[in-house]
Amino acid sequence: MRTDIAIVGGGPGGYTAAHEAALRGRSVVLFEADLIGGTCLNRGCIPTKALIHAAETYAAARGADSLGVSCTGVSYDMRAMHERTDAVMATLREGIEKLMRTDGVRVVNGTAQVGAGGVVTCAGETFEADDVIIATGARPNRLPIPGADLAGVCTSDDLLEGDGIDLSSLVIVGGGVIGIECAQIYASLGCEVTILEAMERILPPMDREISQRVAMLMKRRGVTIEAKARVQSIAGEKGAMVVTYEDKRGAVHEAKGDVVLMATGRRPMTEGLFASGAEPELERGAVVTDAAGQTSIPHLYAIGDVRAHTIQLAHVASAQARNVVATICGEEPPVDESVVPSCVYTSPEVASVGLTADEAKAAGIAVRCSKQLTGANGRSLVEESEAGYVKLVCDEATGRVLGAQLVCPRATDLVAEVALAIHLGATAADVAATIHPHPTVSEMIMEAAR
Ligand code: NAD
Repeated sequence: MRTDIAIVGGGPGGYTAAHEAALRGRSVVLFEADLIGGTCLNRGCIPTKALIHAAETYAAARGADSLGVSCTGVSYDMRAMHERTDAVMATLREGIEKLMRTDGVRVVNGTAQVGAGGVVTCAGETFEADDVIIATGARPNRLPIPGADLAGVCTSDDLLEGDGIDLSSLVIVGGGVIGIECAQIYASLGCEVTILEAMERILPPMDREISQRVAMLMKRRGVTIEAKARVQSIAGEKGAMVVTYEDKRGAVHEAKGDVVLMATGRRPMTEGLFASGAEPELERGAVVTDAAGQTSIPHLYAIGDVRAHTIQLAHVASAQARNVVATICGEEPPVDESVVPSCVYTSPEVASVGLTADEAKAAGIAVRCSKQLTGANGRSLVEESEAGYVKLVCDEATGRVLGAQLVCPRATDLVAEVALAIHLGATAADVAATIHPHPTVSEMIMEAAR
């Protein structure tokens, strides 16, 4: 079968690319080995947020006395929580499936292999495309240490599968976004959580102050955090796992849990993807591209988590999808890929966009920072938010907004305002001149700008 564009992988990168191409009148075949929606919808963003919402509702009900609300007999049902999560995922999946049908995109269920000259084979059929987009994503990485393959060692995929796993204790190796969000779920449910992080602080790529604040919030929920931990081995069986690690002074310790969650990053899915001789340049399994998403082979593009040197986020994948399809169709890429918000769904939420003060300093940019505390924000107090802040980073000479770090209720929504300000080249004065509604958490951005 002939098609204009073949897309391998039906996650946020792949299905966005399919939709964008169909909007431009191109014929599209989308290959998906598993469920449409990819990691984000089926094993990532959506199920984790649904479970965080459920776990936080449970914790809020248990702590509602301070609001004058008494809840007795509060309990949770892990299975019911997962059933509801499955229902949310099914609704979203149906929406994407309907969109693909309306767009006239042919979705082929199976594992595709990309050959030379735009040939893709899948489920016994051969397809010929003018352009091929690789959007196969990434899968959890397991550390190459003794015991990493034991039954009691799981990845975020396993925790989210089926009816879920109810635990009384959990050891998490890796204090990145997945580690912290899983800690948020389980700690809110009363599980004893230990995080072992190799670097000197959790959430290492984020602003130091964010790491410190999140560490404090986690500790308040009873989470134990060991930074600079060198994990050596894992032993035991499900229900009684032991992780041996060296602390920053070189002393050896053990962390015990019902299971061990391996949350040490994700590796690109390119194994078996390319036919012999049809492989583009790869770097540690990731597809190397130029800024436009073009690989070392003409008419072969890569988007999302599978692409080398990319930030592994669903919204980055969909932005790249829109830009790559525009490029294929001879248009200017419509999305500014330089401004990427990152979010962590803790309570309160964490979000960051643009430069931190440290990054600006390292780049030789003189900045002025301004900070507002949740303790002085009416809406945050009404909602009993734990201590947080909004920090705005502006160019000292021009006042242009360069970045922001937020730890406050709905930070993950509010960060979009700052992203827009950065994209538009707005100054702190522009933000301060804009009326923000009262009482809202967004006023903290306006006050920081003032
Ligand atoms: P990550 O890279 O964010 O974090 C992995 C962590 O593991 C790092 O802090 C790293 O220092 C640590 N680590 C590595 N080796 C270790 C070792 N031997 N011992 C102890 N710690 C070790 O990766 P992740 O948390 O697995 O997430 C994968 C990707 O998915 C990331 O790009 C992340 O941004 C994305 N994601 C995003 C969201 C969100 O946007 N809210 C949620 C989940 C995942």
